[in-house]
Amino acid sequence: MAEIKFKLPNTIRVKLNTSCQYKCKFCHQEGDVESGDINHFELASALKFLKDDLEIKRVHFTGGEPTLYGDFINILENCKQNNLDCALTTNGQFDINKLPELIKAGLGSINFSLHAMDVYSFLKTQNFNGQIKEASAWANDCLQRTLQNIIIANTMLPTKVNCVVGSEFISSEEVLHFCIKNNLKLRLLNSLELGKEAVDNIERLIKKNDATMDGHEVTFLSSSHRLDYKIGSYEFGVKCIRSFYLQSICQDCDLRKQGKCLECFYGLRLEGSPLKVRLCLSKNEKPFVQSFDEFIKSKEYQEIKDIYNSVKNYLCHDAS
Ligand code: SF4
Repeated sequence: MAEIKFKLPNTIRVKLNTSCQYKCKFCHQEGDVESGDINHFELASALKFLKDDLEIKRVHFTGGEPTLYGDFINILENCKQNNLDCALTTNGQFDINKLPELIKAGLGSINFSLHAMDVYSFLKTQNFNGQIKEASAWANDCLQRTLQNIIIANTMLPTKVNCVVGSEFISSEEVLHFCIKNNLKLRLLNSLELGKEAVDNIERLIKKNDATMDGHEVTFLSSSHRLDYKIGSYEFGVKCIRSFYLQSICQDCDLRKQGKCLECFYGLRLEGSPLKVRLCLSKNEKPFVQSFDEFIKSKEYQEIKDIYNSVKNYLCHDAS
């Protein structure tokens, strides 16, 4: 039987920007396509507050494409000064020559989004409806740059491939085989909007490749959990969503009652200028999104702190 591990939620997601070279059809833009660039100065003080008050240890930068954010080096340096680990999810289109500078500034690990290995499948992820011939040179260029950057990055810092599985699993299977061949860490994720269809495709992929379950990691205070699989000696993970809700925002939620909640309560996200805290992927009004200053005085934050402290005490008790 697979071992189950529990962990405290000590990572916060920070959405730096909304701009991106891609238009992936399953991208949820962390909830809001119009949140714009984050406020660097407000972010620095918010991270310091959350580190002290909620024991945040790690910052995961997303977007948009975070490497297009102008002040990224300064943000990384600031996190490093505060002893915060930094991770990044990228589409892989950045200039790889800049990676040493990012690492020096504080980047500790990198996740590449890779959802297809061939031009046609890649263009399908971009909802491309025009002439394939016109776009194939661009798509080929994008794919080659990402693949090359993944291989180079893997020699420089902990590197992982994120692959969203959607309405078919052939593309994801090709990504899986690329990762096996290059001994790269892989995490499969289901397209949230497709719901069960995408989850079923992950299961088909697992069965077809004779993968066996090897572990299970559950994050407290979050809907996130991960199943670990093995194919021979190769290991990969599948990120899943479980039904964890925050009572203060989810109890009366119409989407939850209609079975239309995409992600349940995943965790805290920071975004925008002035700086905001996002608690829900599907709703853009208060209290689901609120200013940082309001949030830290809110009943939602109090609920999060109360759960965090009780879970922490439980884990300490469990360990002894
Ligand atoms: S849609 Fe948002 S508010 Fe509603 S249940 Fe899901 S996470 Fe909670």
